[in-house]
Amino acid sequence: MNDSRSNPADPVFLLAGLRLHVVCSCGRSTKPRIGALTVRHRVSSVTPIRRVIERLRCSRCGDKPTVAEPVH
Ligand SMILES: [Zn+2]
Repeated sequence: MNDSRSNPADPVFLLAGLRLHVVCSCGRSTKPRIGALTVRHRVSSVTPIRRVIERLRCSRCGDKPTVAEPVH
């Protein structure tokens, strides 16, 4: 199961020390630091993590990720 401590509504500052496991349907997967994502997407620290996930696009095919979940 997923990490039950993470919630899509959690503000990003709570998760800034974690990585986001992102998997695309094309097979590409990345694990960027959530803190780095908030800088790249210029969102505030109180933005829910799901708002950042909604903005993610695959760097290879441009599609939305099929999996995006915080991991330690
Ligand atoms: Zn892709």
